[in-house]
Amino acid sequence: MTDYSGSRIHITGIVQGVGFRPFIYNLATSLDLKGWVVNTSNGVDIEVAGSPACISQFINKLRNNPPPLARIDNINILEITPPIFSDFIIRESEFQPGEYLPVSPDVSICPDCRKELFNPQDRRYRYPFINCTNCGPRFTIIKDIPYDRPKTTMANFKMCPECLSEYQNPSDRRFHAQPIACPVCGPQLQFTMDKNISIGEDAIQSARNALVSGKILAVKGLGGYHLACDASNKKAVENLRNRKKRSDKPFALMAYNLEQVQQFALVSPAESELLESPQHPVVILKKKIKHTIFDQTAPGQNSLGFMLPYTPLHLLLLEPESGFPEVLVMTSGNVSEEPIAYSDEEAFSRLHGIADGFLIHDRPIHTRVDDSVCRIFKENLYPIRRSRGYAPEPIRYNRSLPQILACGAELKNTFAFSKDKYIFISHHIGDLENYETLKSFENGIEHYKQLFRLSPAAIAVDLHPDYLSTKYGLSESFAKHLPLVSVQHHHAHLASCLADNLWSSNESVIGLIFDGTGYGTDGKIWGGEILVGNCSVFQRYYHLRETPLPGGDTAIRNPSKIALSQLFAAGIDWDPDLPPVQALCAEERTLLKSQITHLINTPQTTSMGRLFDAVSALIGIRQRATYEGQAAIELENLCDPDETSTYDLSLGNGVVEILDLYPQIIQDYRKGVKKEIISARFHNTIAQICKSVAQEIRELTNINTVALSGGVWQNMTLLTKTLHLLQNQGFFPLIHHNIPTNDGGISIGQIMVAASKLKN
Ligand code: ZN
Ligand code: ZN
Ligand code: FE
Repeated sequence: MTDYSGSRIHITGIVQGVGFRPFIYNLATSLDLKGWVVNTSNGVDIEVAGSPACISQFINKLRNNPPPLARIDNINILEITPPIFSDFIIRESEFQPGEYLPVSPDVSICPDCRKELFNPQDRRYRYPFINCTNCGPRFTIIKDIPYDRPKTTMANFKMCPECLSEYQNPSDRRFHAQPIACPVCGPQLQFTMDKNISIGEDAIQSARNALVSGKILAVKGLGGYHLACDASNKKAVENLRNRKKRSDKPFALMAYNLEQVQQFALVSPAESELLESPQHPVVILKKKIKHTIFDQTAPGQNSLGFMLPYTPLHLLLLEPESGFPEVLVMTSGNVSEEPIAYSDEEAFSRLHGIADGFLIHDRPIHTRVDDSVCRIFKENLYPIRRSRGYAPEPIRYNRSLPQILACGAELKNTFAFSKDKYIFISHHIGDLENYETLKSFENGIEHYKQLFRLSPAAIAVDLHPDYLSTKYGLSESFAKHLPLVSVQHHHAHLASCLADNLWSSNESVIGLIFDGTGYGTDGKIWGGEILVGNCSVFQRYYHLRETPLPGGDTAIRNPSKIALSQLFAAGIDWDPDLPPVQALCAEERTLLKSQITHLINTPQTTSMGRLFDAVSALIGIRQRATYEGQAAIELENLCDPDETSTYDLSLGNGVVEILDLYPQIIQDYRKGVKKEIISARFHNTIAQICKSVAQEIRELTNINTVALSGGVWQNMTLLTKTLHLLQNQGFFPLIHHNIPTNDGGISIGQIMVAASKLKN
């Protein structure tokens, strides 16, 4: 039998819960191959036997056309002398303790399920929990591996005979779809408002009627509750802002389809692809028209955050009909900065005073996961918050790393684990400033440990002694006798950008690391840092001139005070014609002056974020901020795209003399130069400084690669201008693609730094 050969194939990656085995089964049988396929704890094992030509075709197709949601990290092929198989079978899953496998993120509803949802002939017609092997909840319902129904929150739903036969049929598109359900056996919808309860289709209709009449609803989604209302209803949006205690921060919006989004925003081909991708993140888009809707939903913004319906429930809720809102506000179900509500009891108690009605169901959410927020920058992904749809898919690094737990930053926290070649970055945890978020952080860490069989050999934390994440890491390292690596915040940003670009060499790069705040090695507040370094070491080549920050990090609420402190540092009088002077009463100013003079609770900072705040206040754009970055965002939004001139800014001994700016800006302001022009000149100046500093460092070091990281690089105007100048000078810039440039990326940076320190 020369024409009978065999191969044993081992595959790792995201290969479970994504329709992999039925794909293998169908591929093998179509090529007349015999053998078997099995899920194991660390991948998929296959044995095929048949003609050598068919086997090589099998392997080619497997490599080149795997199922859409699968991510193959490695294929190992061994030629064997096969036994005689009579057919091709899917064997019972095999699990070994200690083995693990990446888990699929949640996936938005697929086109096939969408078709069934609206097909009156289908038995799942208008069933809000329709899903298949290509779509539906994954990470949010998984309690443990192996990913099988009993280990998900679907365990208590017993399949009806029809669902069971689909589940067991290898040629069915719901073969081993763990969340499989139908109206007979699956989760049910319920709507409660004013003590009236409706279920099923009635629940959807009542919820829609409530939205039309301006009510605010709590809607249970994939990873938690949303608060929803008609975006065009001024009163409803105002109510939502008041009840949620969120005065200006933009709300995420949801429209039924791409065409509707395009009525309000400019959508490039890359952006529409992202909107409709399996992840369905919130995509930040350029606002197309001035529309009253956006005065309340996104005040002061040039952009809008839109997402498309990603569950069947959302599709039913937003189905177009005359008189029904075209756009819904879909903001996370929480008060102010608390984490999003995800359990039913929690939602009822916490959202009680906010929502008028509750659209809920009985499929429990195991892990709280917020919506992801992304941009497209120059055709590529530029994530702002990497969460639902992306987490917990690991970043695959190009070499093996020791097992490390990185605790991340304080704001926009994520934590991360490394194991083998994988770095698991958590979903967005949030700002670790309240008990709820801290609990969510601790539970998240335990869940990842369990899910991926992690037992870290070291712990990485931020250098800041007061971060709750640092305190957690310290106590863990103490309790478990694990080495602790403290990582300077901006070094972590630099390393995070290197990791994002799979920068494997030990070669140093120039780092333009600009953000709001981070603890420096000198105990001061850093944030405008020009570093030279790699993952193991860094040197601070330049930083912004230190200025006083009255009240420390709380100053971010008061750009006017930051502006006056910087003027004070520059020796410029607080003349009454200047907007930040007018913004504070005489008493406040006296107090402020004495605070800065006597350095009472007034640390020194080199923060780039605060410089943007100060300039924004100085020219009368924003004196008080209700959310982080507001003053800087509004300054950027005004920027005149055609203005090309700059201000003079000198470079001293390792110091960018930002105080040079103020006399020039004030002069422009007093001459009546438009804010749009001043904003543009300021942006141009910072970009220019980046270029000059990089050139100077290149002359000294021959380094040509420049990494841009830190929250300030969410400013697309600055990013565009800086990249343009750097590229014109022949620099090789590195920016983020998969990991947020803000503090959401700190955890992976900590992993990289700790890994290289432990190696040395
Ligand atoms: Zn589907
Ligand atoms: Zn069923
Ligand atoms: Fe930062």
